[in-house]
Amino acid sequence: MTTIGFVGLGNMGGPMAANLVAAGHTVCGLDLSPDARARLKEAGGKPVESVAEAVSSADVVVTMLPAGTHVRKVYGGDAGILANARPGTLMIDSSTIDVDSARAVAKEAAGAGMAMVDAPVSGGVAGAAGGTLTFMVGGPDDAFEAAKPYLEIMGKTIVHAGGPGNGQAAKICNNMLLGISMIGVCEAFVLAERLGLDHQKLYDISSTASGQCWSLTSYCPVPGPVETSPANRDYQPGFAAAMMLKDLKLAQEAASASGASTPLGAEASALYNLFCNQGEADTDFSGIIRFLRGAETA
Ligand code: NAD
Repeated sequence: MTTIGFVGLGNMGGPMAANLVAAGHTVCGLDLSPDARARLKEAGGKPVESVAEAVSSADVVVTMLPAGTHVRKVYGGDAGILANARPGTLMIDSSTIDVDSARAVAKEAAGAGMAMVDAPVSGGVAGAAGGTLTFMVGGPDDAFEAAKPYLEIMGKTIVHAGGPGNGQAAKICNNMLLGISMIGVCEAFVLAERLGLDHQKLYDISSTASGQCWSLTSYCPVPGPVETSPANRDYQPGFAAAMMLKDLKLAQEAASASGASTPLGAEASALYNLFCNQGEADTDFSGIIRFLRGAETA
């Protein structure tokens, strides 16, 4: 069995680390939060107090941190992962971060003699707990093959998206598409309301017509048609609007740096920013229908 250093035991990292423990691995886990460390201990893992303790005897290191700045900081410097892990250690960063940071850290890792993949996820906290995440993986072929057995413990679908940073690229492209499509579906329901067309009727027609998409048929933003939608529980997340905004901003940064024209992505980012600024950051992202509807009609 493998010794795994795990840094970032939050909403996602906590249950992912617990699944690695349940599969029989030794997990030395670090988080700034004592509560998160205590949860790892309850799950059978080994909480530690420093990056060096987490990684110095590890064969594999997994990180699940909030953003690119955290990842650069935790991997870099004298107290960081790359200075304290043994050469040959496999690095898996599952945080959702900007493509530039992912590529910069992968380059540093290669320079230090470590294989690295960026492996952001979709599937949320439920997917992390159930071990059913989708991993979008960027990195060399051999690093992907080495990471796969561990990713298969934490997830169900593992896709190699190409070289370093391409996992992050896939993640932000997908989530930009999701943000745009959710707003489109919401607008269709709002227009239907104004025209006196019943929610269920629109659903029945569009779900079998050319308007069909995941935002409609798996995550319908009005209560009723799809039982598991957050719309049926007053838009409790699910996937919080703040998380969607984070991913849309990453997509806009990448679009700007690469010269891609993404006008609908820009509009979606602006709309989610407005929605979050109205105190809705913790609302499920499908709740943006309430904002698009404006004042409720009688
Ligand atoms: P979170 O805030 O719950 O967890 C992040 C953890 O990292 C925190 O517990 C924090 O204490 C810890 N941390 C920060 N800096 C640290 C440091 N220097 N050393 C040790 N620990 C440190 O966030 P989360 O919801 O678990 O998300 C993690 C990543 O996964 C993010 O990049 C997020 O965008 C992505 N993601 C989240 C979801 C979701 O539904 N929550 C879904 C897909 C992807």
